[in-house]
Amino acid sequence: MQTVVVATHNDNKVRELTTLLRTNSFQLVSLKEFSIPSVEETGSTFRENALLKAEYATKHTNLPAIADDSGLAVDILEGEPGVRSARYAGESATDTENVQLLLKRLKDNRVNNSPISASFHCVLVFMQSSSDLNPIVASGTWFGHIVDAPRGNGGFGYDPIFQPLGSSKTAAELAPELKSQISHRGRAVADLNQQLLSRFG
Ligand code: IMP
Repeated sequence: MQTVVVATHNDNKVRELTTLLRTNSFQLVSLKEFSIPSVEETGSTFRENALLKAEYATKHTNLPAIADDSGLAVDILEGEPGVRSARYAGESATDTENVQLLLKRLKDNRVNNSPISASFHCVLVFMQSSSDLNPIVASGTWFGHIVDAPRGNGGFGYDPIFQPLGSSKTAAELAPELKSQISHRGRAVADLNQQLLSRFG
């Protein structure tokens, strides 16, 4: 069994990945086990941030690493909040503050009543070592639009104002199992599983 570090201090993320990854040959541990602080997310894309987090984790632990980055992009705001999704309304902003700021920005910028298209993105990186020249980069996108007011109590982040394409419910009104199958994260994990299978069998 190979120990693989997940570039996060969030045990829930490690637990979620442990259930979703189809390989049985990895034992996932978090950065918490190594008393290593988080790296600053200075990338301008989800891909850059996931790569820099994976590189940081593998460099400081000498273990293979998995890292993710995710967020919401709204078309009429040219991709905002994007890589700043978690800290849109400030470094320690709550989900509610981020949602309220986004709704205000949309009110100020909306020119007509057509649907406000948006997409969630997730990039997952697997890096064997800090000298890995060919890390696995997996991704998933979830398309939909932003609704006028929050609905639903499930999920987190921007879920209450995101209505997936083809659904009459917001992401916060979906059953968690359904969300994890069809979401950007579910799709990125499926992509990672497939790429890990073809590289390691
Ligand atoms: P990360 O931890 O840097 O990847 O930041 C992700 C941020 O993007 C979260 O704090 C949320 O604000 C937002 N986000 C990512 N995935 C989701 C989702 O599935 N639902 C709602 N918000 C999400």
